[in-house]
Amino acid sequence: MKYEFPVTRTTAPKARPNEDELGFGKYFTDHMFIMEYNEGKGWHDGRIVPYQNFKLEPAARVFHYGQEMFEGIKAYPRANGVPVIFRTDKYVERAHISNDRMCIPDIGTELMTAAINQLVEVDKDWIPEKEGNALYIRPFIIATEPKLSVGPANSYTFAIILSPVASYYEEGLKPTKIYVEHQYIRSVLGGPGYAKVGGNYASTLISVKKATDAGFSQVLWLDGAEKKYIEEIGTSNAFFMIDDVIYTAPLEGTVLPGVTRDSAITLLKEWGYSVKEEMVAIDDFWKAYQEGRVKEVFATGTAAVVSPVGQLQWLDHEMIINNGETGPVSQKLYDELTGIHTGRVEDTHGWIQPVK
Ligand SMILES: *Cc1c(COP(=O)(O)O)cnc(C)c1O
Repeated sequence: MKYEFPVTRTTAPKARPNEDELGFGKYFTDHMFIMEYNEGKGWHDGRIVPYQNFKLEPAARVFHYGQEMFEGIKAYPRANGVPVIFRTDKYVERAHISNDRMCIPDIGTELMTAAINQLVEVDKDWIPEKEGNALYIRPFIIATEPKLSVGPANSYTFAIILSPVASYYEEGLKPTKIYVEHQYIRSVLGGPGYAKVGGNYASTLISVKKATDAGFSQVLWLDGAEKKYIEEIGTSNAFFMIDDVIYTAPLEGTVLPGVTRDSAITLLKEWGYSVKEEMVAIDDFWKAYQEGRVKEVFATGTAAVVSPVGQLQWLDHEMIINNGETGPVSQKLYDELTGIHTGRVEDTHGWIQPVK
């Protein structure tokens, strides 16, 4: 390995959380990775240290103008003691795209991969054992330069933290109720919707709150220009099966290029399904629904893997999908992907990457 970072081990290891009460992103492991960037010096001093607070000036640019990016990846245990990560290369590839959009000086693929792998290796005892649970990996970069003018910073911190997380669906897949957002938008062409950057999420909280207050679990986003075409569901990519064709929005600059989306398309095509990366208008979807042609709707993302949708609310139209039950395609995808994660299903795509 080209990169080997110095490790300072904690002298006060934390108590392990109960595996049945992990939730999502509530607990953090004993260690973190940290590295700084300064203009002229580049990225330097990568190291693994005990999980700890940052010391930042109140004027740090990230606090005011949101110059930051992040990723979300999962690691799983293996019986031989060498943990595996699902498609590290694909997430690191996306990190370059986010850095570029945010004017954040890029971190090389090899360095970022080595940092992720070494940190997971150091805290591998934290990887949950229970099927469906995982170690969530959160790399992120923030602008630290203390300066209140708007502009790209000259200093940054790259950090990685780890969180043992539960499966979203401990008692089997449970279809969600989704609110079609027709007031606010998530993304427009030319904006950063295709990048994983903090500001994209802050501006969606108002919709998520509106939807959850009304008893829905998430929102479905329409395109930002016309509020006509289906783009995403919450922080997941949206798929919908009409007749025998499975549609998902194309990657043309407004949709986040999900790694789970890519994996799902690959598997569905291998299984012989017709998958079309095409925009579908919500009123055409509503028409297809009334004609009884909508078979399944589901969302894909690293956190929940596959999330079936049982109900959609668009204006005053209520749509019950597949009798509110998990459909066969959603179930098969979920079983296959989680099977690959745990090793129960053979990985024929090179998606499972050991940490060393
Ligand atoms: C992270 C994310 C996704 C899902 O991407 P994965 O790589 O599958 O986790 C989809 N949409 C948005 C807006 C996201 O932030």
